[in-house]
Amino acid sequence: MPKKVYIRTFGCQMNVSDSGMMINVLKAAGFEESASVESADIVIFNSCSVRQHAEDRMFSNLGLAMKKNPSAGFVLAGCTAARCGGGIFDRFPRLGAVVGPSEIFKIASVAKQVIGGEKVTAVGEGDYPVVERAGGVSEYVVIQRGCDNFCSYCLVPRLRGKESCRPPSEILREINCLAESGTKEVILLGQNVNSYRGAGNIKDFPALLSAVSAVEGIKRIRFLTSHPKDLSDGLIEKMAENPTIAKHIHLPVQSGSTRILKLMNRNYTREDYLLRAAKLKKRIPSISITTDVIVGFPSETDDDFEETLSLIREVSFDGVFVFKYSPREGTAAEELPDDVGNDEKKRRLEKVLVLAKELSKKSRRSWVGADAEVLFEKDGVGHSSQNFLVLMEGARKGNLRKAAIKGTSKWCLIA
Ligand code: SAH
Ligand code: SF4
Repeated sequence: MPKKVYIRTFGCQMNVSDSGMMINVLKAAGFEESASVESADIVIFNSCSVRQHAEDRMFSNLGLAMKKNPSAGFVLAGCTAARCGGGIFDRFPRLGAVVGPSEIFKIASVAKQVIGGEKVTAVGEGDYPVVERAGGVSEYVVIQRGCDNFCSYCLVPRLRGKESCRPPSEILREINCLAESGTKEVILLGQNVNSYRGAGNIKDFPALLSAVSAVEGIKRIRFLTSHPKDLSDGLIEKMAENPTIAKHIHLPVQSGSTRILKLMNRNYTREDYLLRAAKLKKRIPSISITTDVIVGFPSETDDDFEETLSLIREVSFDGVFVFKYSPREGTAAEELPDDVGNDEKKRRLEKVLVLAKELSKKSRRSWVGADAEVLFEKDGVGHSSQNFLVLMEGARKGNLRKAAIKGTSKWCLIA
């Protein structure tokens, strides 16, 4: 009987992609995917360490899963594995392995060791194999791992290591393989894709976008995440002129106050950000811009926070992800007093949410009566170039087509 594996994924798109990679590696080694914790021989939690609260929730879910299936082997993978290392075995004696994000390609041998009753700690450096895979309509493709930025609040560079870019030849091989199996859209992933460095003719990110758009069968390219400090005119031009590139950018601002941005070590000012956003909108009038915001960073005053609100209003984002600042051990910001207080953080978070909701409603409404270009990931359900969810009866999976938008609902556009 093949052994069954269940993976639960927390956190960002990079983790979603890493979990997909682990599934592929495990299937190639003879494992089968299980639909539930109860029926699995191996349970993998692919974790996120970015915020304490989310990490605590993940740990309590892990404890619950261990109670649900006392006979399975448990693996903690991802960023929390790298953060805690073997020390976590004391807290969770039932845990069989900790596997950091740089070693997940070893997951099949780790899983076999855990089934054999061994304890495994794999939190070092590693190389990623090229996994040739078949894909769905839309697939993540990792182009860069790690991060060299050291934003003062962020654990990612400590847990995922220095920035390293996959060679263009490898990326294109993977995308060709996906396209042959029917993939129409690729979402290029990295912590800071704008700083991608390649080789030969494909030396930077705009050049990589051109090369990917030339792959037969690829009808749309998305990418995340873009760092405002590295958003070049070259990239804006490429997005404007190449119809295969989706008209959407996720450009995390974090704060609207230049003083706070400096403390965050983001390397741009409020004005820099506003200029970049204005340039994007001027060159690509139909673009949608989404962002991440942190509220309650150390020393953030009411005035600083008002600047965040006014920036959000000025850019009129199509979507905002907002987080309460969470001090993380080993980051530079941990040295600063976490002085805003949880109630005030909550109040600021709510204010951003209310504003964000109003703006995204406005932006969805502006599409009524217009044609959107939609790629359908399922029959009747797709995403527009601007990344809005679109429902359209009769549309077939895999088709890219114009959709006349007739109305909106709370989350989507209706064609
Ligand atoms: N590389 C990406 C994403 C990093 S993590 C980027 O540069 O934007 C995703 C988001 O989590 C960040 O954009 C930030 O808004 C949030 N985040 C990271 N560390 C955090 C912390 N310590 N507290 C609260 N939010 C945090
Ligand atoms: Fe973290 Fe900043 Fe790197 Fe994003 S760019 S992963 S926020 S250090």
